[in-house]
Amino acid sequence: MSTPHTPQSVRLRALVDTVQRNERTLRRFQDVELQLIRAQDFQSLCRVLLDYLPREFGLERVTLWLNDTLPLLHELALRHPSSKASVSAGSSLKPAREMGETAAQLCAQGRPWLGTPAAMTGAASDAWFAADAQPASVALLPLAANGVPHGYMCLASDNESRFSPGMATDMLERFAVIVAASLDNVAHREQLERLGATDALTGLPNRRYFDERLREETTRASRYRLPLGCLFIDIDTFKPINDQHGHAVGDRALAMVGACLRKQTRLGDTIARYGGEEFAVLLQGDLKDSLVVAERMRAAVAQLELRGDDGARIALTVSIGVSAHSMQQGADLDGLGRTLVDEADRAMYKAKSDGRNRVATLLI
Ligand code: GH3
Ligand code: MG
Ligand code: MG
Repeated sequence: MSTPHTPQSVRLRALVDTVQRNERTLRRFQDVELQLIRAQDFQSLCRVLLDYLPREFGLERVTLWLNDTLPLLHELALRHPSSKASVSAGSSLKPAREMGETAAQLCAQGRPWLGTPAAMTGAASDAWFAADAQPASVALLPLAANGVPHGYMCLASDNESRFSPGMATDMLERFAVIVAASLDNVAHREQLERLGATDALTGLPNRRYFDERLREETTRASRYRLPLGCLFIDIDTFKPINDQHGHAVGDRALAMVGACLRKQTRLGDTIARYGGEEFAVLLQGDLKDSLVVAERMRAAVAQLELRGDDGARIALTVSIGVSAHSMQQGADLDGLGRTLVDEADRAMYKAKSDGRNRVATLLI
């Protein structure tokens, strides 16, 4: 005998279907997100976004527009004029300025815009779609990392009810954040490669790269009035490690500390080997954020298990100086960048004189 279909059982069935559908969607998003985070260069990122994404999500087309007034993205676009050719027919990377302007109008307050091309302004649908290739519905997603608009991505469907106004957009918004952070990440990776600015011992960027990033980060932070933090990190009593255990063990210690510090940085932050046993970090955040990251780094280094040739554990600790400034428009950016690093450096010496293995600022 079959189970009778009471109104409750029908409702329950519908609810279970919805939950399962949402779970499947979430898993598909997570798959794409993982690939984005793993992308090592712009070409692979484009392949994930413009090729894999439409295929996995059954979209007719995905279009990406990048804000090439940002120096790093401009460089990416210049270095990859062939991106268009490498992606599947229909999906593309677009240069037109009108796309950015019209998308900014539609996505008020940085929120996604969903609907049919007919519901867009005429200028927007002209900018985004060819007259003979209008999709049935679209989701236009602003891509912003740390408050800075990096571009827009348009998901186009041949199904009119796929994207409609009033739909929940939390999954799409989360996805857009990851796309923007991944873009930022590949842009920095490519810049690093171009400058040939990697330190061989630790695999970290060197001081030259740090100085270049400092200029860019102060410019970006001041344009959007964002705070910028800096950490200056120095290994404690490192000379005795070299003297007692030999230079090779010292080198191993440096590589371990470098890898450990790198693990604690977030996407978008910059870490470099600044000098001999000194590291510097630029953080997109204020003093409070920077102190949290610094303390996490200090604690992580103190847990490292460095062993000498005799197998005995060698204690490794760092002293960290922290500084942060909110960047205002029109400020002397070079001066502000120098002050930021100089204050973190002086705070580091304060941490040393306070007893080492600690975090200090000039304020406390
Ligand atoms: P403090 O706690 O005051 O920072 O003491 P310290 O011994 O760490 O400071 P000091 O500046 O006297 O010594 C830094 C040492 O780092 C001296 C130098 O030989 C060593 N060093 C710098 N670069 C390298 C490197 O690439 N490999 C190795 N093995 N040692 C290095
Ligand atoms: Mg030193
Ligand atoms: Mg030292």
